Amino acid sequence: MPKFINTLFMLLLGIALSAQITDPVATEVWEPIPRAVESPANGTPSDAITLFDGADLDEWKSRYKDAPATWTINKDGSMTVMPGAGDIITKQGFGDVQLHIEFRIPTEVEGEGQDKGNSGIFLQGRYEVQVLDSYKSKTYSNGQAGAIYKQSIPLVNACRPPATWQEYDIIYTAPRFNEDGIKTSSAYITVLQNGVLIQNHFEIRGTTEYIGLPKNIAHGEDGIILQDHGNKVSYRNIWIRKL
Ligand code: MG
Repeated sequence: MPKFINTLFMLLLGIALSAQITDPVATEVWEPIPRAVESPANGTPSDAITLFDGADLDEWKSRYKDAPATWTINKDGSMTVMPGAGDIITKQGFGDVQLHIEFRIPTEVEGEGQDKGNSGIFLQGRYEVQVLDSYKSKTYSNGQAGAIYKQSIPLVNACRPPATWQEYDIIYTAPRFNEDGIKTSSAYITVLQNGVLIQNHFEIRGTTEYIGLPKNIAHGEDGIILQDHGNKVSYRNIWIRKL
């Protein structure tokens, strides 16, 4: 059957069926019932995993060495990149997630462009949401704060000045691969910076490479990485919900 006839048939069928429904109850759906999640104001949702609450780095380890994470823990409940100590990664692996993370760019000017408050948050250890000072500070647009590094320019610049706490709320869908290692669906990411939408369901093309094109090598769940780019960026109040 030609496609337009099929479409017309479905349209007429839909009209006919909906014409028969006169009872509002007929279109009510009662199951499943969403489970309850408590979400206190400025608090961690009841079903979230706390990745950092200021106490310790027990949820983290060194990215490259089989060793504990050694970034600095501060008395104000935050942690700070220890330049040279290297990236840190969560001990737990994750796939689809909602991630909340707060960060602060240091006040002291440490450089320009990519050297000014550079860090980063890597979903599944591969896909970077850039952390950088982009408040009245210029660099290439697809590498500024809130960019999916070298892939997606943020919709707007929602950066606050250095020394101010900021937050990212990230909704992330992991890519899927088949048994042959071929990607069957892309990763998607939505990011709010300080409550402002900066990435809207962006289709991630593959790994966020510094040099060269994105790669798509099959992988499963993997840790969240925080990047040591040599700048003393601080983080606090990190929690994650598996989706
Ligand atoms: Mg970075």
